[in-house]
Amino acid sequence: MPELPEVEITKRSLSKQILRKKVSSVTIINPELRYNINKEKLTLLKGKIIKKIIRRSKYILIFFNDTNVLLIHLGMTGRFYYTKTNGRKFNTSFYNNTNIINKHDHLKIKFGKFSLIYNDVRKFGFIKRIQKKNVVTSNHLSRLGCEPLSNKFCFNYLKSKILNKKSSIKNLLMNQSIVAGLGNIYVNETLYFCKIHPEKKGYKIVDKDIRKLISVIKKILKNAIIAGGSTIKNYHNSEGKKGSYQKNFHVYDREGKKCLRISCKGKIRRIKRSGRSIFYCSKCQT
Ligand SMILES: [Zn+2]
Repeated sequence: MPELPEVEITKRSLSKQILRKKVSSVTIINPELRYNINKEKLTLLKGKIIKKIIRRSKYILIFFNDTNVLLIHLGMTGRFYYTKTNGRKFNTSFYNNTNIINKHDHLKIKFGKFSLIYNDVRKFGFIKRIQKKNVVTSNHLSRLGCEPLSNKFCFNYLKSKILNKKSSIKNLLMNQSIVAGLGNIYVNETLYFCKIHPEKKGYKIVDKDIRKLISVIKKILKNAIIAGGSTIKNYHNSEGKKGSYQKNFHVYDREGKKCLRISCKGKIRRIKRSGRSIFYCSKCQT
């Protein structure tokens, strides 16, 4: 599932390819997604120019030169790729063609000589046209907490959110109204680096560890963005290039393997909580 770094990379790739470009046509190939694509609303984008592309949590927002905004969520397997009018794909050297199955294409937005295509195998993603004035109050975005890479995500902020909380630190960090966009993989990795047991209760986390959590979260996300995102199952960035962060995982998906800390003799354990896996070292995370 694309997490924050993958969405950020997708956003950057989109910015590189479609910013300031004019939409020449919109084709709905298959409207079936988490929310069906509204053909009438989307075809109105014809002739509009893309002004700005931003990421908020795991959402991508594309602003046009009027009041239109496209709100996009990649769900589990959503991704973008580009094709030229003659059918040839962009950046073919990066493409892993076997991973693009055209029957999972949903939307095609044409910009002159090339098209942007949204492909989603499991159909949990969505693309909605909304109005600029409704962005902040949108029910997808209105309750989101701090962006972990922003300056607002600091010691005082996190402390205020976990103080007196009896929930586990894992659940608190996964709570989107506290930290926006942080998912299971990066939370597991963060807690390992901070040597904190995932089920430790929020109010028991000492100040020193809160500081560490902040700096580790920022570092992990930045490194993952630089590395091209994780390659968890279906993820490729919109240029079809596979991310390379996966080989750097320390606990995620390493059940039964040795802890990577030289001084630690522990093994990585996996427990299930409300349908999600928790990976942690049985020795050094306390
Ligand atoms: Zn360990």
